[in-house]
Amino acid sequence: MGEDWKPMWKELGLDLKAHDELLSVLVKFYNDIFMSQKDRPQGMVYFDFVMSEVHGLRIKELLDAKAQGRKVIATFCVYIPEEIALAADAVQVGLCGGAEIGFNVAEKYLPRNTCSLIKSFFGFSQAKICPYFEASDIVVGENTCDGKKKAYEIFKDLRNLYVMDLPNMKHDLGRELLKNEYLKYLQMIEKLTGKKITVESLKKGIQISNEKRKAISRVMDLRKYNPTPISGKDGLLINQVAFYDDPIRFTASVNKIADECEKRVKEHHGVASKETPRILVSGCPMAVPNWKVPHVIETNGAVIVGEESCVGMRNIRNLVSDKGNTVDQLVDNLVDRYFKIDCAVFTPNKDRLDHIAQMAKDLKADGVVHYTLQFCTPYNMESHLVENTLSKAGIPLLKIETDYSMEDMGQLNTRVQAFVEMIKK
Ligand code: SF4
Ligand code: SF4
Repeated sequence: MGEDWKPMWKELGLDLKAHDELLSVLVKFYNDIFMSQKDRPQGMVYFDFVMSEVHGLRIKELLDAKAQGRKVIATFCVYIPEEIALAADAVQVGLCGGAEIGFNVAEKYLPRNTCSLIKSFFGFSQAKICPYFEASDIVVGENTCDGKKKAYEIFKDLRNLYVMDLPNMKHDLGRELLKNEYLKYLQMIEKLTGKKITVESLKKGIQISNEKRKAISRVMDLRKYNPTPISGKDGLLINQVAFYDDPIRFTASVNKIADECEKRVKEHHGVASKETPRILVSGCPMAVPNWKVPHVIETNGAVIVGEESCVGMRNIRNLVSDKGNTVDQLVDNLVDRYFKIDCAVFTPNKDRLDHIAQMAKDLKADGVVHYTLQFCTPYNMESHLVENTLSKAGIPLLKIETDYSMEDMGQLNTRVQAFVEMIKK
């Protein structure tokens, strides 16, 4: 970080000592995991910069936006439509945490056997180490897995929290519920921001979000080529930064990388040789700085070619139509897209099973690594059905259940190494 941001962090009420600890972990991980890679696309320099300023310049931008009267909306789930925030000229940021710093504070409120994602956001908030929490005007939770649901009941007394109800089944009543919840949410955002959402402003929000999805999809789609033009770690990083960065600037930067990757594909210029085993990672979301499993995979002789995850394909596939003459019609269009998200909290969830097999086929993956966080019941349970589906399709699978600690690194390395050996062509 170029500038001294300490006065800003102090003003925000961060615990500077604990925050320094988080930053030193972040910087070390980033250098070891990302900067050690060879032959990255030039455009990744932008992402190195964004990550170096993730608690600096980006926070300053949020505070500047607030000084201009704009609101900052913090979210945890890809079911919360950014289009609505953008339509009210608000800024939306993702809050999920990917580090275990703050777990000791989180465990004062939550059982130890809670998934790392939940403990991390709770810890980041209550240990005062996340400037995004402190810069936000409202935190938006959602009724998804049991862990999150019950954590929000505690969290509501600690932060300004709004919780959206979500259906668990994909039938007409579920769709109706989602639409009502989006309309209610839209009204809440109008009240919070003091801005009326119009057909024009919602169309603009839809277009900005669609452009962002299209740009990321361009890069992700190019990973189907062999050799693949970009590493899995850099692919994941693009998907992670999508939750923090200014959407218009981010889209322009990702399109530049897509141009570069297209050129690489034409020149058969890849980050790994054609013989390198190709892996699709599927499962729980990986929030910054949770890069553990991708790093293990890519340092054991394989290359990741896709992420079937909310920090990945689930966040970018399917666009929202901007056709419609009323806000209500546009909200219907939002529901059309978001209701297709195949999170494991849905039952039954056959779409996800089919989608994993399809992605593996499209990306020419030699195997799938199914990643779940310990104590995540939805994804852990669903991994059995994923295994059945992939076995019928003849696609090898490795199931990994882990957390944010480094204690199982030895075991992970051994298991991944054996899997990579097995799928070698
Ligand atoms: S995994 Fe489910 S609960 Fe988590 S962000 Fe994705 S859609 Fe939301
Ligand atoms: S990883 Fe699983 S348990 Fe954790 S928040 Fe997501 S769905 Fe819930």
